[in-house]
Formats: sequence, structure tokens, C-alpha cells
Amino acid sequence: MKRSDVLVIGGGIAGLSVAARIAPHAAVTVLEAESAPGYHASGRSVAFAHYGLGETVVRTLTALSMGALAEHGGLHPALHIAAEGEIAALDALEEVHHQFGCNYTRVGPDAARGLMPVLRAEACAAALIDHGSLKLDTHAMLQSHAAALKAAGGALVTGARVSAIAHEGDVWRLTTPAGDFSAPILVNAAGAWADGIARMAGVTPVGIEPRRRTVISFAAPQDEDVSRWPFTKTVGEGFYLLPEGRGQLLASHMDQTPSDPCDAAAEELDKAIAADRVEQATTLTIRRISHSWAGLRSFAPDELPVIGAAAGAAGFIWCAGQGGAGFQTAPALSRVAAAAALGLPFPEDAAEAGLTFKTFSPARLGA
Ligand SMILES: Cc1cc2nc3c(=O)[nH]c(=O)nc-3n(C[C@H](O)[C@H](O)[C@H](O)COP(=O)(O)OP(=O)(O)OC[C@H]3O[C@@H](n4cnc5c(N)ncnc54)[C@H](O)[C@@H]3O)c2cc1C
Repeated sequence: MKRSDVLVIGGGIAGLSVAARIAPHAAVTVLEAESAPGYHASGRSVAFAHYGLGETVVRTLTALSMGALAEHGGLHPALHIAAEGEIAALDALEEVHHQFGCNYTRVGPDAARGLMPVLRAEACAAALIDHGSLKLDTHAMLQSHAAALKAAGGALVTGARVSAIAHEGDVWRLTTPAGDFSAPILVNAAGAWADGIARMAGVTPVGIEPRRRTVISFAAPQDEDVSRWPFTKTVGEGFYLLPEGRGQLLASHMDQTPSDPCDAAAEELDKAIAADRVEQATTLTIRRISHSWAGLRSFAPDELPVIGAAAGAAGFIWCAGQGGAGFQTAPALSRVAAAAALGLPFPEDAAEAGLTFKTFSPARLGA
């Protein structure tokens, strides 16, 4: 039995970022089922940070994270586009950017096309340019957390799928193919599997729903320098589109199909819908989808992260429900989760922004 002060289940961005925060204070071990960290949702994101998703809490966490994210991200504009019937949604998004003190410009269709020349007129009656959004290097983010964890004496054990959890006295005992592990504090950062981990531990699940999202990649027009194209996103149902390296573009029709926790794969219908939405809204022709993937974004019923101690299960700490914003909120959310695990005060900047432990508590979901 290998003993630690804290065990973290899950080597995605949630588990690695919280473990890196905990490591200077306590002996922490991350247990990851797969042979490498970041295999599931964290290895499948489109790696962007912006204010075009989530409600106020998620956007507040994003605002609190932007400074730290800049370390692994470069400024890249986001262009939020609205068709004729979507101006009210664009107005609401403009208000959000105003509230969060973003550097943004409201523009008409001509200026939008100046940035994104392939937009069809009917797709964009007005737009908002967010000049402060970030293209993230998510691989570097994962690696830097893993390195910080190890530098502070922590451990990341891969190939360690937790198959049984027992609570004996004050200690959690976990069974994995890489050996048995114990600690008085157990952090559940298992992404789509978080409810399953709770059940295994005899803890009430919170109702985490994994939802599949599909991304396609295709060749950009050869005569265009698409690396300068903004991250372009419809304010309503539609799609997003962004440049990838090597003359490729990525697109998603922002699907969110409920799924069991699994190794998600892109379905043909989703790929076709994504391609069709792009072709309807732009003059691009997608002759061939070069590659595609899908990942699971996991949500609590109220779509807010779940961070904090489970009722009636001493030392069981939730760190789940990061939805579609796990990277852009990680710098702030990992500090909240580390404070919850270590019994430290709530982070001051987050408190000043109006957040509390209660905002994230599993108790709000009856767990
Ligand atoms: C297509 C797509 C695009 C996205 N784009 C963005 C974006 O632009 N910006 C952004 O901020 N976010 C984005 N996201 C969301 C972001 O990727 C997630 O919020 C984040 O990765 C969730 O991290 P996680 O660590 O909770 O989950 P995961 O990365 O899934 O990690 C959970 C880990 O737990 C492990 N695990 C599960 N069960 C066990 C067990 N029994 N024992 C041991 N280990 C276990 C799994 O193997 C897994 O590695 C996107 C997501 C998708 C799918």
C-alpha cells in the first residue's frame, strides 16, 4: 500500500492542475487510468480561451485565469458573428465583454469580412471582435503542471485505473493495476467518470452528464494566409471555425450529445453537419475532412463546476463538471479545489469577484 496525504483520480487538466497546487503543501499522487495523461477530454480540446461560453461564474473564473493562461497562450482574436435574427444575442454578449472589461470592438459585416473574408453576407449582420482572447498551448499546460507536481515531490502514476475504493477509518484505500494506494484525502477529478468514482466510493453522485463534441479538420484555401483568421463563432446555434497549424482549419457544429463515459469517437453524421454548417455560412468548400475527433465535455445539472467536500464522506473532494471551459478556468479553479482539499481559506481574488466555496459546493446538487 503506497501512502500519500492526497490522492487525485484523473490525469487531465483538472487533476494535474489541482495536484500541482497541492504538491507544495502535501504529499500528492495522481492516479491516471490511461498510459499517458490528457488522453480524454484534455487531449481533445480546441485550446481557446474566450468569453463566448458559460454563464457568469464560468466567465468570472475565466477572467481570474486569463493572466496565468497568457503564459501558455498567445493573443488571437475571437470574432462572434450574428445573423439578422441574432442581434439581441450579440447585444447580450457585448454586455458580457463590457462587464468583464474586455478589449472588444462591435463591428458591421464589412469589418467582420475584413478579418474573415470567406463569410457569406447572410451569416453575419453584425459581429463582435474580442481582441483579448487566447490560443492556448494545452499540451504545454498539461506538461507544466506535471512538471510542477514532480518538482514538488508529487507523483503521477499512469496505467492506474482505480477499480475499487474503500473508506476505512479516516483513510481512503484505492485498488489499481499499478498497486494499491491510500490517503486521508481523495480528489475526484475523473472528468466524465466522476459520478462513477463517487458511486465506487459510496458517495452520492451529483449528476455529471458527459456530452460529446465533434471537431473536423480540413485544408484551408491555398491562396489564403489563414493563420491570421480569427476564432469565428456564431452567437446562436451554428458552428465555430479556427485556424490550426499547417494550413488546416478546425470546425465544430458545437454538438453536445449526451453520452456514457467512454473513449469518444466522431460520428459520420456529426462530421457531415459540421462541414455543412461551415459551407452554408462561408464560401469555403470542404472537399475532404483530413481528420476528426470527438471528446466528452462533462456538465453538472446546473452547468457549473462541482468543487468541494462530499456530505457525509470525510475527505472526498469533488473536482468535476468543467464542461467546455476546463482549460480556460483551470488556473482559478485549481486554486479553489486545492483550498477545498487542504482546508485552506477561499482564494482572495475569487472571493472579491463574488465567488465562495458555496458557489461550487456539491451540496447545491443534494450531494
Ligand atoms: C472538442 C472539445 C473542445 C474543447 N475546447 C475547449 C477550449 O477551447 N477551451 C477550454 O477551456 N476547454 C475546452 N474543452 C473542455 C476541456 O477539454 C475540458 O473541460 C477539460 O479537458 C476537462 O478536464 P478533466 O481533467 O476534467 O477531464 P479529462 O481530461 O477527461 O480527465 C479525466 C481523467 O480521469 C481519468 N479517469 C477516469 N476514470 C478513472 C479511474 N477509474 N481511475 C483513474 N483515472 C480515471 C481519465 O482517464 C481521464 O484522463 C473542450 C472539450 C472538447 C471535448
